[in-house]
Amino acid sequence: MTEIIKINASAPEYCKIIEAADVIKKGGLVAFPTETVYGLGADATDASAARKIYAAKGRPSDNPLIIHISTPSDAEKYAYTTELYYKLAQAFMPGPLTVILPKKDIVPFSVTGGLDTVAIRCPSHPIASALIRESGTAVAAPSANLSGSPSPTCAEHVISDLNGRIDMIIDGGECEIGLESTIVKITDGKAILLRPGAVTYEALLCVCDDVEISYAVTSRLAENEAPLSPGMKYRHYAPSAPLVLLDGEYDDVISYMRKAQSGENCSLICYDEDTAFLDERNTISIGERDDLEAQAKALFAALRRADKMNTEIIYAHLPPKNGMGLALYNRLIRAAAHTIKKV
Ligand code: AMP
Ligand code: MG
Repeated sequence: MTEIIKINASAPEYCKIIEAADVIKKGGLVAFPTETVYGLGADATDASAARKIYAAKGRPSDNPLIIHISTPSDAEKYAYTTELYYKLAQAFMPGPLTVILPKKDIVPFSVTGGLDTVAIRCPSHPIASALIRESGTAVAAPSANLSGSPSPTCAEHVISDLNGRIDMIIDGGECEIGLESTIVKITDGKAILLRPGAVTYEALLCVCDDVEISYAVTSRLAENEAPLSPGMKYRHYAPSAPLVLLDGEYDDVISYMRKAQSGENCSLICYDEDTAFLDERNTISIGERDDLEAQAKALFAALRRADKMNTEIIYAHLPPKNGMGLALYNRLIRAAAHTIKKV
């Protein structure tokens, strides 16, 4: 049985937070909202609680979890921090940034997928923050979806994937950002961007002298190549119908979409402006063309909806690679298994 409780996101009811924290303390699993996506939380120092996360999600055991703390200096308990960690923390925490550091022994290898590094994040969402604080421990939490499906951005997505498989789901409404956190690895005092998110590459450059973008962010890895972030090798967010990203001038993409609508059994993920030129059937709009933040917020719900339309193919625009666009680009090329069509 999964208990589903509603909590007010702007002023979390303390008694309900205590109830949820008790589940974490007893080694149970609680799904909770964060500013990025919903997370599936367990005590990060309890190896068997962490293993329950992998079982509930059907997640491969070599794909490590992010551990969530309630204040940046709590990282000291779990990892060997550096000067750059505190620079990043000062600029972006609490918020949608995850930093990879060498782990301390208190973090079990079941949490880090066998790695000797650990991913640390300090979320800003009031429910996440209160839950972690009251649990009195770091909370290991990957996204609260079944492995392979899009990350959940509202409680309904979590319920549809995990109801009956976990102890509790906190319904705290829609997530503000809608894409998972930015992941940065610190090695030898240098920052490597492993996964783009709402803390953009451009924003990182304001704090770090140099930021390397990992190859896997925008490109397909070879069969035998191991990514720096194990999660990057897994097929992700993928709808059952093939998704194709259209790359070209705006007008050419629109005419391709119009033609597809008359000749193919397709669905379209498009911009608000596009709807004037398209048939509304099987069309999902994710925001204005220039509003990358709105598109980020709507993307995963759109992929879930497109999947339910049972069409034979899904088309979407190839996003730009600047700002929040890089995060959209990264998620979409993986959902599309890197299928890009030039038009
Ligand atoms: P999720 O929380 O579901 O978005 O998944 C966590 C992501 O963080 C996955 O892509 C992992 O590969 C990545 N991650 C977690 N821990 C590490 C680590 N120690 N080194 C590199 N990547 C990590
Ligand atoms: Mg995930």
